[in-house]
Amino acid sequence: EERLIDRESRVDDFDEVSLRPKKLDEYIGQSKAKNNLNVFIEAAKQRKEALDHVLLYGPPGLGKTTLAGIISAEMGVNLRITSGPAIEKAGDLAAILTNLGTHDVLFIDEIHRLNRSVEEILYPAMEDYALDIIIGKGPSARSIRLDLPRFTLIGATTRAGLLTAPLRDRFGVINKLEMYTADELKQIVKRSAGILNIELKEDGAYEIARRSRGTPRIANRLLKRVRDFAQVMGGGVIDLKVAKHALDALEVDEIGLDGVDRNMLLSIINKFSGGPVGLDTLAASIGEDPGTIEDVYEPYLIQLGFINKTPRGRMATKNAYGHFGLEFED
Ligand code: ADP
Repeated sequence: EERLIDRESRVDDFDEVSLRPKKLDEYIGQSKAKNNLNVFIEAAKQRKEALDHVLLYGPPGLGKTTLAGIISAEMGVNLRITSGPAIEKAGDLAAILTNLGTHDVLFIDEIHRLNRSVEEILYPAMEDYALDIIIGKGPSARSIRLDLPRFTLIGATTRAGLLTAPLRDRFGVINKLEMYTADELKQIVKRSAGILNIELKEDGAYEIARRSRGTPRIANRLLKRVRDFAQVMGGGVIDLKVAKHALDALEVDEIGLDGVDRNMLLSIINKFSGGPVGLDTLAASIGEDPGTIEDVYEPYLIQLGFINKTPRGRMATKNAYGHFGLEFED
């Protein structure tokens, strides 16, 4: 089954690298995060210091990795990219840290998935730019402290609440990335179309944008899939007609919902009488992973006002019933 919406980057995103903006002023939307970062970057540069550690959180595909690249470019330093699950042992992180240059940026994606022993290495590294190493075993073991270069850690996670308090407290800058408006996504697909040499009309761009569930990664993916239809159907040009046809064929509906979204909403409505239903029960009923529902599917449905999160579980709203042409009873 073709999945347009998922957690991980995929092989066909390989050329996303070239779609990634490299300067802060090419980064569309997120004005709050952007304005703040602009000030902090300028201030750090003036003082010739490393930028304070930055935590970025929000659903996948909103531009956290991209922003880390931009920050390092604006600071004029190297970027080292890794992820929580990729760092298995404390020694792996120690090796990464000791190889950083002065003021370099270390980006750790899915930072909430670091294991405990690795996370504990990070505390003194972030706070004192130091690495505590234990030498020997048993009663004769002793700890020595190595100095690290001053560096910037950029951590990314889907929800800030997934981090332990001691880790969260060590970030000086915490930014939530918001879902993008259709107009912002339209600018993003137009920019991507320019880079990829795709002829994209205004109305075609808007149609892709409004079905991209507030997420640039999805907008870029849909653009590439719609391009295939355009090539076969209409001489390569993406206009409203081609975009509509292609997106319908991809089963992305008028407001960007895909099969899993519809299945989930209809399951709450039909199997659980509109809810409330607990996350795990709901996940089991549609054969999805609870974490994926929470991080990938639900944020957009909540944003649309289709799902309410209550202490007793998820509820489908009147809007959700309306979307399927169903009668809502209080
Ligand atoms: P995340 O790290 O949050 O999962 P990424 O940084 O990988 O998301 O972004 C996914 C893709 O979306 C990038 O390759 C980039 O092309 C595009 N993108 C994200 N944010 C923006 C933005 N603000 N402006 C333009 N393109 C963006």
